[in-house]
Amino acid sequence: RAKENGKNTFHFYAAENNSHSVELLALENSLRRALERNEFVVHYQAKVDLQTQQIIGAEALLRWQHPELGLLSPIHFISLAEETGLIIDIGAWVMQESCKQARRWQTVSADIIRVAVNLSARQFREDGLKDVIADALEDSGLSAGCLELEITESMIMQNAERASDVLQHFRDLGAHVLIDDFGTGYSSLSYLKQFPIDALKIDRSFVRDIPHDADDMAITSAVIAMAKSLNMRVVAEGVETASQLKFLASKGCDQMQGFIFSEPISSDDFYDLLKSVNVARRLNSKMIQDAQ
Ligand code: C2E
Ligand code: MG
Ligand code: MG
Ligand code: MG
Repeated sequence: RAKENGKNTFHFYAAENNSHSVELLALENSLRRALERNEFVVHYQAKVDLQTQQIIGAEALLRWQHPELGLLSPIHFISLAEETGLIIDIGAWVMQESCKQARRWQTVSADIIRVAVNLSARQFREDGLKDVIADALEDSGLSAGCLELEITESMIMQNAERASDVLQHFRDLGAHVLIDDFGTGYSSLSYLKQFPIDALKIDRSFVRDIPHDADDMAITSAVIAMAKSLNMRVVAEGVETASQLKFLASKGCDQMQGFIFSEPISSDDFYDLLKSVNVARRLNSKMIQDAQ
């Protein structure tokens, strides 16, 4: 197993390797301190509904404002947080912060704006998760219908019985469940259908090479068609170009997320974006109606 891994990644089983352990410990300590020092920030990336062309919500994406290294993407620290268990506290903080910000956005838009929070495998296994979510909703005053939870196929497959219970709890609350990175795991739609799931997010790797890769296009349109027949919404992630947008729209994709609309931005910037885009559009359509 060790052989397969690149030299530059951390190996948690390589405790006998001293330099690694020391480095790891230092990183673990700074990750622990980051929470106390408020070095984590959440950025938000717009989700756009194709039918209405409105922003209907945003995905919360964690960043670490590192004092020396600058703004770090979660790919650099999420797996360490997961291995050390720090993800439990970090995840609870992300949930609190995201719900609080989403509650604030509701004031700028007459539409309901949702926030989507990514859950990690460890969080999903913890008994405390239900309370973390209940507390975040209560403290923020956000309604559960405005909360989306993004999980992966493997989190369900690791313990299907438990996943059933947790997902049903989310459904009963009124929150929405999305399968993130769909297509990269080994589950099938017919298997996932047994669980209370609202939507699939087609992984960016299938979107990236549209319209050049015929296989990716075939897979994408098949997934959209099957999801729709099972009454699941479909969200495409990583949409960057007009031709990707056009293709996905022609296949009936419901929502999109990607740099073509917006990169992940601060909550304040997202608030301004909502104000300028959604309000302007509503004013425009009202002006059009009035003119007719
Ligand atoms: P994800 O949930 O699949 O999030 C989508 C990733 O794609 C984000 O990367 C986003 O910035 C990036 N992205 C969005 N649109 C585009 C595009 O058009 N082009 C390209 N090239 N990239 C795009 P990011 O923010 O680096 O996050 C990486 C992963 O880290 C996330 O993947 C998610 O699995 C994880 N993550 C992020 N925030 C959290 C969190 O709060 N908790 C947990 N457990 N995991 C998180
Ligand atoms: Mg996600
Ligand atoms: Mg994803
Ligand atoms: Mg992804």
